[in-house]
Parts: sequence; C-alpha cells; structure tokens
Amino acid sequence: MSELELHTLLVQGVFLVAALTVPALLFISAPYGRHARGGWGGQMDTRLAWMVMESPSVLWFTAVFFTGSQAWGLVPLLLWALWQSHYVQRAFIFPLKIRPGGLTPISVVAMGFTFNLVNAYVNARWIGEFGTYEIGWLLDPRLWLGLGLFVLGYKINRRADAVLAALRKPGETGYKIPRGGLYELISCPNYFGELLEWTGWAIATWSLAGLSFAVFTAANLVPRALSHHKWYKQKFPEYPSGRKAVIPFVL
Ligand code: NDP
Repeated sequence: MSELELHTLLVQGVFLVAALTVPALLFISAPYGRHARGGWGGQMDTRLAWMVMESPSVLWFTAVFFTGSQAWGLVPLLLWALWQSHYVQRAFIFPLKIRPGGLTPISVVAMGFTFNLVNAYVNARWIGEFGTYEIGWLLDPRLWLGLGLFVLGYKINRRADAVLAALRKPGETGYKIPRGGLYELISCPNYFGELLEWTGWAIATWSLAGLSFAVFTAANLVPRALSHHKWYKQKFPEYPSGRKAVIPFVL
C-alpha cells in the first residue's frame, strides 16, 4: 500500500468515526465537564488532560508538515500558520485559563489523543505533500472565503470561552447562566465558533482531509451542545427560553 492509499483510508476512517459518533453521543454524553460521572476508569487533572490531548495537533502536525516536499511554499505555510493559531492556543493557553483541580477520565484523553494523532497527520500531510497549493491559490476566492470563516469562528470561539472562564471567581466550581453577545442566542457559541473555523479550514484547503475534520467536529460538538442546552434548561428554571443550542435561530 502506498502512503497516499493509507492517507485516503485514514480520511475515510475519520468520516466513518464521525458517522458513528453522532448516534453514540446522542445517547451517551462524553463524560467530562458538567457531564462527568463515574464508571469511565481512572482520572487525571483536566488542565494536563487538555495539554496531552491537543499537543499532537501542534507538535506532530508540525513534524509531519515539515517533512512534506511542499512545506516551504507560501500557501502551505499560510495554512500551517492558520492551523497552529488555533491549536497553540487550545493546547497550551486554554488549559491554563480553565479552573484548576478538575478531573477528566484517562479513557477520554486517550480517545482524544488518538484522534488528534490521526487528524493531525491527515491534514498536515495533505497540505505539506499530497495537495497542490501553488501560488495561484492566493487568488482563489475559496481560500479567502475559508480564511474569513476561520477567523470569524476563531474570534467567536475565543470570546465565548473567555466569557465562560470569567463566570467563576477563584475557587468556585459551580455553573452560572452565561450572558451577553451570542450567548443571548445560543447556549454554546464556543462550539458554534469551532464549527465555523473547521468549515472555513475545509473550504480554504478544498480537501477531503479538511472536510473530514469539519464533519467530525460537527458530529462531536452538535450532540454535546444539545446535551449542554438540555442540561441548562433542567438546572436553571429561569433559563432564557428563546435560546437555541448551537446554531442561532435554527438548532
Ligand atoms: P464547555 O463549554 O463544556 O466548557 C468550557 C469551560 O468552561 C470548562 O472549563 C467548563 O467548566 C467551563 N464552563 C462551561 N459552562 C460554564 C458555566 N455555565 N458556568 C461556569 N463555567 C462553565 O466546553 P468543552 O470543555 O467541551 O470544550 C472546550 C473548548 O474546546 C471549546 O472551545 C470547544 O469548542 C473545544 N472543543 C473542540 C472539539 C472539536 O471536536 N474540535 C472537541 C471538544 C472541545 P467544567 O469543565 O467544570 O464544566
């Protein structure tokens, strides 16, 4: 089997995992954060868990990317920087902003780590080796539409995560109703931002590799947003009734 055939197989695998993830998460919410519960084995510090889980998307992605024959092209480098702008924050800055002392099942970390290994390889190898991103791609509207969506999603995601981080005073562990901005329309603007980002990535790279990650992100985060939304409504009787879960005015 050639490496390109292996790459194709892995992309198909990500689509398959996405298809299986939707029904699984509609019935069993991923057991971390507010949906944490016993029965998922040993646990580890949540901040460290995020760093471990997400680090392949920074380190392994970079290593794979720079072994590619196209890595030093302007467009591939731009795409590499775009990916890293998200993942350096997610792996090494975001964990330091969430409350210390939380615990996450090691089984969840292992699944996230494994997925990120595959996903980072698939995307880095595509933009660094198998895809064709010549300088003319800089004039293609797909690149700019994708970049625009990515940046918009990035801002929404960062802002929404910052609102959540500010809800708790030092030492607090409970939950409050988030308010302001997109929180007036949806319960999970951080997930909405994330969906926009990876849709933008799929368009900017115009690749099945990018699309597989966008589809997986939706498969993972839409059911989780529905669980969060239901949980908010059960926990807070005064929860704003007009809010949707994750897509303004729609879902
Ligand atoms: P959540 O919104 O569940 O939680 C984010 C942080 O905010 C946690 O520290 C949580 O605490 C805290 N928090 C959430 N709601 C409240 C509230 N109402 N009051 C007080 N504190 C609150 O997000 P996730 O942890 O699931 O995800 C974190 C980031 O990672 C998001 O930006 C998400 O988009 C991204 N992500 C991306 C994925 C992908 O497939 N691309 C997959 C998963 C996450 P606690 O932990 O105690 O609940």
